[in-house]
Amino acid sequence: MSLALQRCLHHEEREAVAQCPECTRYYCRECITDHNGRVVCKTCLQKLVTPVASQTQFMRRMLRGGMCVVSFYLLWLFFYYLGEIFYQIPETFHEGTIW
Ligand SMILES: [Zn+2]
Ligand SMILES: [Zn+2]
Repeated sequence: MSLALQRCLHHEEREAVAQCPECTRYYCRECITDHNGRVVCKTCLQKLVTPVASQTQFMRRMLRGGMCVVSFYLLWLFFYYLGEIFYQIPETFHEGTIW
């Protein structure tokens, strides 16, 4: 079958302009992208770049998550001790009046 008769995998109404060498499917101009001189579809492009990108993204997310947890923990600790102090004030006050 010739390329002109092919339709984009994602867009039924669009004519395919290129065939992805990775998945051998046909795609329209919008669905195909140039990656290091190779014309691949966006799905395959994601597969090609994901290992590195996801790792850095994962690390960044972990870092951000860690920072979030640490700041939350510090905040919690702060309020916990603040509460402890406020709780202890009347207690010592009581103790002072009792003794
Ligand atoms: Zn592909
Ligand atoms: Zn398309």
